[in-house]
Amino acid sequence: MKTARAVPVLMYHHVSPSPGLVTITPENFRAQMGWLAGNGYTTIGCDDLAGFIAGKPLPAKSVLLTFDDGYLDNYVYAHPILAEFGLKAALFVITGRIGDGPARACAGEGTLPDTPAHNACKAAVQAGRADAVMLRWSEVDRMRAAGSFEFHSHTHNHTRWDQVEADPDRRQLMLVDDLTRSRATLQARLGHVTPHLCWPQGYFDDAHIDAAQQCGFSHLYTVERGSVLPHADASRIRRIVTKDRGAWWLGSRLAIYRRPWLGQLYERRS
Ligand SMILES: [Zn+2]
Repeated sequence: MKTARAVPVLMYHHVSPSPGLVTITPENFRAQMGWLAGNGYTTIGCDDLAGFIAGKPLPAKSVLLTFDDGYLDNYVYAHPILAEFGLKAALFVITGRIGDGPARACAGEGTLPDTPAHNACKAAVQAGRADAVMLRWSEVDRMRAAGSFEFHSHTHNHTRWDQVEADPDRRQLMLVDDLTRSRATLQARLGHVTPHLCWPQGYFDDAHIDAAQQCGFSHLYTVERGSVLPHADASRIRRIVTKDRGAWWLGSRLAIYRRPWLGQLYERRS
């Protein structure tokens, strides 16, 4: 069996018909997923990536799909498409924004809830209406049961503590508290918590890495571009920003990022 030399980790936020920032239309997402399934790709989980970093082999065409934040549209649109193709993704949820209540309808189930654009989602959260735009735990359960998504931490509050608190000792305490609450919430709601953490807005420094490792997070996902190589630094996992384009775009990017030397050349050029 040919094995992977590099694993691309793709970053998504929204899959929704509402046009806006960091959003892919359901049509383009479906084309991308159809292309992965039709071209023999394996969508791995975060623990598989950890194994690869530690030196375990993976199939040559391996890719990790990640989603940040935990928007309602991930359930309404991305989840049915992933399930249709038998693919899976990892979702880094802001645990403090996930609500209670019955599961809403997802694509294929009748009248769908509104899934506003990115800026409207941010405004809704600010206005105390997170439930209208973010996932509920009942929807998380449905996604887990279908095997379309696995769930990891994106902190509890999505706060950039470096912008909030100038005193480094107090900042560290706040960060540790945020991460501890996120872990406790995942443990209570899912029955387990993983060592995978994604930084809000991709921001981190050495103190952030220390805090995360103290709290039990060993694999830290950034927005630094590139693919993941064996024996990569697990505290700085690179990802690739996705675009609202179809199968051709995804195919051409994966062709680059699956080849370590080509990926590095591409990074230097762009
Ligand atoms: Zn985020």
